[in-house]
Amino acid sequence: MNPVAETVVEFDAVSKTYPGGVAAVRDVNLRIGRGELVAVVGPSGSGKSSMLNLMGSLDRPSTGRVLVDGHDVARLTDREVSALRATRIGFVFQQFHLAVGVPVLDSVADGLLYAGVPPRRRRARAAAALDRVGLSHRVDHLPHQLSGGERQRVAVARAVIGEPAVLLADEPTGNLDSASGAAVLGLLRELHAAGTTVVIITHDREIAAQLPRRIEMRDGRVVRDTMASLTADATGADR
Ligand code: ADP
Ligand code: MG
Repeated sequence: MNPVAETVVEFDAVSKTYPGGVAAVRDVNLRIGRGELVAVVGPSGSGKSSMLNLMGSLDRPSTGRVLVDGHDVARLTDREVSALRATRIGFVFQQFHLAVGVPVLDSVADGLLYAGVPPRRRRARAAAALDRVGLSHRVDHLPHQLSGGERQRVAVARAVIGEPAVLLADEPTGNLDSASGAAVLGLLRELHAAGTTVVIITHDREIAAQLPRRIEMRDGRVVRDTMASLTADATGADR
């Protein structure tokens, strides 16, 4: 296997300029290896979400190359990008994004909708995923019957049920009180310890300080990456 196979996300000279001219991401180079736990930090408007959207193939770069799990996103058809996203990438957002009126078990099972898993099997795996996030006792609840912390744990269960190559979390604790936020962070750390590659955008300096690698953004650029040299060594990169 060549070293690139162990790189889950690679950015080569990536820029993203939105229609209207905002340069949200400017000439970013980075690699995230399988099994890493990474914090992306920086002020509001510095391009963190834009970068995460590129990592998750929710968006395509204006220039440069984005590889996700070895696939060059710009060279895939829309259908292939959807398949990549559905099977290899898990997302968690600040706003939970759980469908109103859908019981927890079904919300989580829906994470496997495009993975070709039969419905019964989806539900069994959803039950296991909910057990993993400590919510076995909430499978029949509706989102509005849950606390914010519980809703976010449901969202995490849905994101990881398909065993994605990378879990991308955009301010996952941003809407939570500090105790619930700590519990969600603990859960993400457990998933990482069990082998999942995790990227977390966070405003919270305390959270960022606990994570092994921090990528700091400012005005669309990566201004600091605590593991950049190590990653380059590990992957044999020459920059
Ligand atoms: P952060 O997540 O660090 O707050 P964002 O990536 O959301 O930063 O935004 C970076 C810059 O890009 C900001 O100036 C923002 O206003 C702009 N931006 C973000 N999304 C869009 C969009 N869809 N269209 C136009 N500009 C955008
Ligand atoms: Mg953001």
